[in-house]
Amino acid sequence: MIIVRTVAEMQGLSRRWRREGKRVGFVPTMGFLHDGHLSLVRLARDESDVSAVSIFVNPTQFGPSEDLAQYPRDFLRDEALCRGEGVDCVFYPAPEEMYASDFSTWVEEGVLSKPLCGQARPTHFRGVTTVVTKLFNAVLPDVAVFGRKDAQQALVIERMVRDLNVPVRIIVGDIIRESDGLAMSSRNKYLSVDERQRALSIRAGLLAASRLYDGGEKTAEVLRLAVLGSIEEQGGKVDYVELVSRAQLAALPQVSEPAVIAVAAFFGKTRLIDNCYLG
Ligand code: AMP
Repeated sequence: MIIVRTVAEMQGLSRRWRREGKRVGFVPTMGFLHDGHLSLVRLARDESDVSAVSIFVNPTQFGPSEDLAQYPRDFLRDEALCRGEGVDCVFYPAPEEMYASDFSTWVEEGVLSKPLCGQARPTHFRGVTTVVTKLFNAVLPDVAVFGRKDAQQALVIERMVRDLNVPVRIIVGDIIRESDGLAMSSRNKYLSVDERQRALSIRAGLLAASRLYDGGEKTAEVLRLAVLGSIEEQGGKVDYVELVSRAQLAALPQVSEPAVIAVAAFFGKTRLIDNCYLG
């Protein structure tokens, strides 16, 4: 496995692979890898001949009062996990390699990035779409894999790729959970034992809503309240619980088309997100 730290070297390696007729699979991450990330690596490997994983805690997707400095990092562990998965290349650039001090060009999606996480984190998706574009231009992948844990992010990336004719096929992998149902996340490390226990109410609420839906309940407000109630009962501070269409992320009064219930909630200082597809 090769570790590459510069954009020029990454492009050179990828061009060589491409000349050899190899399809390049790519998984962008912020590191501190868990089984959710590794499931995406396996998907990327299934769909390609060579695989690259990027590990880059992207400063531009964090707001000024967010956890950039504290974000967990453990490169040696990540490296060993990638090696164990048979990854061919880890792209591990320094922030200065990715952003010139006078960096001034942004990629911004204008509709899907606005509701849900875009409300509470107004510059977040602009940072994501910009860094993903930069990572695509460094890694030059044929296929890139994202997780449905960040359902809005995956939709925003798909829209960006369509709108800008980016020649990369996007695959979206399922949410991987801990055995007790908590969606895996690098940020789970921040949770105290008590917070972690109470955070299970997110998944419990989504399952309750899903059961109501399976029993014939289609009204968004009833389904929303099932999730909200579960989280608030356990002392979680809800940022949003929204039932939106999967195509446009537009609020739906009824589940009349493929929908997703998306949640963001704080347990202590930790903001967790999760979601569940309906219909
Ligand atoms: P991150 O390192 O948090 O930026 O995540 C990198 C990629 O892994 C993103 O596409 C995430 O959606 C995906 N991911 C994170 N957690 C999970 C999970 N529990 N299951 C599946 N994919 C995940």
